[in-house]
Parts: sequence; structure tokens; C-alpha cells
Amino acid sequence: MGEASVTTGVDSEMRPCPCCGTEAFHHLKLPHTEVLKCSRADCGLQFASEQLNEEDLSQAYRDVYYPSDGKASTLQFPSTPNDMLRQVFSQLRTRIGEIEGGRLLDYGCGVGNLLAVAREFGFEAEGIEQDPAANQEATNKLGKRTYRNVGELLSLSSAGVFDLVILWNVIEHLREPWSDLRQLRSLLRPGGWLLVSTPNVNSVRGRLQRSGWQQYADPTHFYYFERRSLERVIRSAGFGSIEEWKPRLRHSHHGTLRHLFFRFSYHLGISGGVFYLSRADRSPTNESLPDKSAA
Ligand SMILES: [Zn+2]
Repeated sequence: MGEASVTTGVDSEMRPCPCCGTEAFHHLKLPHTEVLKCSRADCGLQFASEQLNEEDLSQAYRDVYYPSDGKASTLQFPSTPNDMLRQVFSQLRTRIGEIEGGRLLDYGCGVGNLLAVAREFGFEAEGIEQDPAANQEATNKLGKRTYRNVGELLSLSSAGVFDLVILWNVIEHLREPWSDLRQLRSLLRPGGWLLVSTPNVNSVRGRLQRSGWQQYADPTHFYYFERRSLERVIRSAGFGSIEEWKPRLRHSHHGTLRHLFFRFSYHLGISGGVFYLSRADRSPTNESLPDKSAA
């Protein structure tokens, strides 16, 4: 990951969107940073300015995600339950077809929960995790080396070999997500798939709670996406074939009405999460994705 972009905080100076370069304006004030929003109609990226420095970021990760004293964090960010991840893989298989024995890379794999579920679905699953404690836990859980970064992976493996790369609620943590995505694109085989999920800033909670929204409160988040800005960032990394994916994920504790609302919320763009599928192709054309979904 690169260095944080430097902004002066002086209002008279233009503050460009780090993705498209268009002028960005004040959107929200948070205790730890300011949120700016790109003014370009087909971007609208919301981003933290400034980003936490490396030292504060490491401390924030320890406090929020991996508290060493075993105590729960004051902020609650539970990871996606395994039964939800199984729904994701089940529906992904319907959408992109069976990839039996395919190689999967989970970028920002945390303690390896998604990797363990991916194995249940027949993937040869590998992870990249920067946090040393989480990396060790993932390595132990899988009995297989978890890489610290793309460079380490490439020193032991070759590019263009993965069938599927997943960023599961990770892209909002990256300093320059287009840079990471560009690297990851080189790891995909031609025709390989990219799946990106992230919280939706246009969700009901995001709209109603504003600066109190948990995703804004998380100091390890540098970006706050909705459909348009997520698609733009993925496109800026050189992916041509991009489409929103709408998995029907059912929370086990949700009743039918709430489930129906969740399905409807996709149509309004206010679902809690947004999901995008892309393909690495070597042709410069914007070929559309074959639709295998029954939806
Ligand atoms: Zn922009």
C-alpha cells in the first residue's frame, strides 16, 4: 500500500478526488478525520482526508479488530458469519459456474474464515493478510502459508494463475485501492474473476445515521462507497467487464418481511452492502459478462 496522499486542509486550495482528480468538497466531519466527496457526477467518491498515519492505523487495527487483551472492542465489527459466506459461495457458483479445484485468493483475509469456507466449496484457497497476528491465525487455521502482501506471493508463485480474487469488505481499508486492484488484476488468469464487497454509504443506516454510521466511525476505513463510486474505482484499475452482483443473502435471524425488504433494497440502491463482479480480460473491448444467473 502506498503513502497517504497529503492534503493541506486549507479551504482555499482545491482538494482533488484521489480517483478521478475532480474537485472534492466537505461532506462530513468525523472525530478522527474529515470526509470529502468528489463532485463528479459519475464518481462521487467519498474519502477520508486525511488518512490515519501508519502508527495510528496500526493502533486502530489493534483496538478495533484484534484487541490483544482479548477484550471486545468498543466498536463492534463482527466478521461475516460462515453461514452467510456459504450463501455467497453457493450463489457465486450459480453466477460464474463451477470452478472445481480453482485457485482463489482472498485479499485481506483476516483470520481466514472466508478461506476455510472457500475450501468447503472445492477451491484451492490462499490469502494475503498484512496484520501479523491475523496472518498467523489464518496460517494456523489453514495449515498453509498466508502471504503478507502481493510481493511476497509473487516471490513464491507466478502471476496470472488465480481463477478468483476476492476483496470481502476490504477495499474501504486500502490507501489507494486502484493500486491494489491493478496488482491483483495481474494475478488473475485471463478470464479470471474479481469479487469486491463493501458497505454501502447509501444504505438506510448510512443515510439516517450520517456521521454516527458505524462504517464512518471505523477509523480504519479510508473510503465510503456506493454503487457508482465502487464501479468507478474498479474501472480505474483497468477492469473492463464490471457488473453489480445482487446475491440474496439471508440472515438466519431475519423474518420474511425483513428479507423482502433486503431484496427490494437492491433495486433502490440502498442495500447494506454492494457487490461487484469483474473479469480480467486481455482484450481492450468492453465485452459484457455472460449472464448465467437465474435472477
Ligand atoms: Zn472522483
